[in-house]
Amino acid sequence: MVLATNLGFPRIGPDRELKKTVEKFWSGKASRQELLDTAAAIRRDNWLMQKELGLDHVPCGDFSLYDHMLDTLAMLGAVPKRYGWSGDQVDLDTYFAMARGSAKAPAMEMTKWFDTNYHYIVPEFERGMTFHLASTKLVDEYNEAKSLGIRTRPVLLGPVSFLHLGKSIGGGVKPLSLLDSLLEVYIEVLRRLADAGAGWVQIDEPCLVLDLPEEVRAAFNKTYSRLAASAKIKILLTSYFDELRENLDLTFRLPVAAVHLDLVRAPQQLEKALAAIPQDKILSLGVVDGRNVWRSDLDAILRVIRMATEKLGKERVFIAPSCSLLHSPVDLDLETGLDDELRSWMAFAKQKVHEIVILARAVNEGEHAVAEELKANREAHATRRTSKRIHNPAVKERVTRITPEMFDRPAPFAIRRKAQETALGLPPFPTTTIGSFPQTKEIRAARADFNKGKSTAGQYKATLRTEIEKAIRFQEEIGLDVLVHGESERSDMVEYFGEQLEGFAFTRNGWVQSYGSRCVRPPVIFGDVSRPEPMTVAWSKYAQSLTRRPVKGMLTGPVTILQWSFVRDDQPRKTTCEQIALAILDEVLDLEAAGIKVIQIDEPAIREGLPLRRDRWNDYLTWAVNCFRLSAAGAKSETQIHTHMCYSEFNDIIAAIGRMDADVISIESSRSKMELLAAFKEYQYPNDIGPGVYDIHSPRVPTVEEMEELLRRALQVIAPEQLWVNPDCGLKTRSWEEVRPALKHMVDAARRIRM
Ligand code: GLN
Ligand code: ZN
Repeated sequence: MVLATNLGFPRIGPDRELKKTVEKFWSGKASRQELLDTAAAIRRDNWLMQKELGLDHVPCGDFSLYDHMLDTLAMLGAVPKRYGWSGDQVDLDTYFAMARGSAKAPAMEMTKWFDTNYHYIVPEFERGMTFHLASTKLVDEYNEAKSLGIRTRPVLLGPVSFLHLGKSIGGGVKPLSLLDSLLEVYIEVLRRLADAGAGWVQIDEPCLVLDLPEEVRAAFNKTYSRLAASAKIKILLTSYFDELRENLDLTFRLPVAAVHLDLVRAPQQLEKALAAIPQDKILSLGVVDGRNVWRSDLDAILRVIRMATEKLGKERVFIAPSCSLLHSPVDLDLETGLDDELRSWMAFAKQKVHEIVILARAVNEGEHAVAEELKANREAHATRRTSKRIHNPAVKERVTRITPEMFDRPAPFAIRRKAQETALGLPPFPTTTIGSFPQTKEIRAARADFNKGKSTAGQYKATLRTEIEKAIRFQEEIGLDVLVHGESERSDMVEYFGEQLEGFAFTRNGWVQSYGSRCVRPPVIFGDVSRPEPMTVAWSKYAQSLTRRPVKGMLTGPVTILQWSFVRDDQPRKTTCEQIALAILDEVLDLEAAGIKVIQIDEPAIREGLPLRRDRWNDYLTWAVNCFRLSAAGAKSETQIHTHMCYSEFNDIIAAIGRMDADVISIESSRSKMELLAAFKEYQYPNDIGPGVYDIHSPRVPTVEEMEELLRRALQVIAPEQLWVNPDCGLKTRSWEEVRPALKHMVDAARRIRM
């Protein structure tokens, strides 16, 4: 018999119960007991539901109050010294202090979990750090499930990935040098799990899909030999998010009972795996996509499973999602806002578990046992393949007509710069902002009223117009050179465009955890993308009518729209991105025709799309850069195209950013004290650039001197005629009380360097 298994279920609760209670707890409005009760209820409901659906291996330990990496470091007692923790067990206050900071010590760093939009707490390794079992969460949760009558499969993050994903503080220790002491704790945990009755444990080692230095590869041998020698429990070792490649043989040689492969991201590795897998191992097939919202193609997956069972026999095959279901929304049944047809194409975490069970039954009992389910699945896929809502021949045809010339502006930068100088007449070191101004209570209230039908479109529009006028007057008054309208009409930079584009849908409850209590609800790109009507022109035109200074049109770029959405899985991402790029191009041309002389196309997410393996970066960067260029290239030479980037370090892709050929880029850098500038020692950035001089993530108002100093530093590597003066990012999360003096100071700093 093949087994139906899961690697992890979302922990937020069907109605974001966890977020709500955790935040109440933080603000003192919920007791510790209420928090623990809510958490226990979510776990119980998840376990019972998965069990009832018919799963053979239900995970436990996948739950977390904040983050699984933080749980692992709590388990190990790897608490950095600054939290003053000296206890035996990590208490709730210390746990949340590490996540969010406390009066005593700032929070630990957070970073993206591989190429997902989930963020984990980065473990910090200090000299003299020792480990002991400082949280029994995993064993407790195993026992908790057992007392509900459910034998679960505990999940924990593996020792090598834990060390590899952490960072050394002050360069004092090599993380891997801590392995021995770490393994003692893991051995203790496995022993306790075995004593409690667990037959299997799932150990996640996602770093197996990365380019690994030899010493990390060696650490795998040591780790799993040690764990296997001392543990009386079967280990399922998982990899996900990409293929194992050169680490495949290494993985199969480890003394573990089963290995999990992501066959959604990397289906090509199955054949090699079937040839290489030793006789004694089980293969866990990650065939249901854990990272999107689409219903699986069960027939196609059954063919894959049969390839495996023919070679290995049913006893040696697990059926599983590609990765933990943490990255998909919880339950499609709650999605009452979507029409039936659209819903029939989709599956959230609960539905994905159901698919896994159906697949296992089809293999074990024969397809007749699940004939109805398979039929419904086939029908949904048949309509998806032909639906007019998805397939728009005009859009597809337009994409096929994209030619390389469409990636190029009408003239090279040097010529464009001249044309723009004449058209815009800007001073040296021009000042500008990134787009948004504070989203005040009043703006949000006006939007809420309008959405609830409490005010008319006319009233809402009038409020926004007043906001725009205020923003324009303020910018003129302090002497900014290139103005913005302030984006008060937008709740979110992707949603705003998705709502006006064909091919997008929005869920009511499709939340996924981004970090801690923060959840996001990405738009769903289900069909061919086109732009029925201008999206921003009226606002920009109005703003421009109020002033003689240039007002920047403000658009979100194709790569960012793609990256921050759930993307259809029935065509390459590149094709979807090209469709979006053409829609943005239409908007650029309409803005230009409406007299807008400067247009910014934001691409903050371009780096996030980078593949995990370096040898695939180039392929991605080529199409991502081309899509940006496609959206901008139709603009006349005298139209100045800006782009903006933030949220990441861009040093290692700076040349690709240069190839985007925006006339001006504004890029986050003040938060890292202009680390970005290091990149310009070797690489001569070709066009104009404004490294941010005002850290908008902090409520602190920077002084004129500080920003002047940053600009002078920038001038050491950037030519004066290239340098712009701007903040790190948009100002929508700040208040006017902070923004007014900060921008005044920024303009003054620019004036000083002009002298
Ligand atoms: N134009 C957007 C803003 O100013 C850019 C936001 C972003 O980079 N995330 O808000
Ligand atoms: Zn930004």
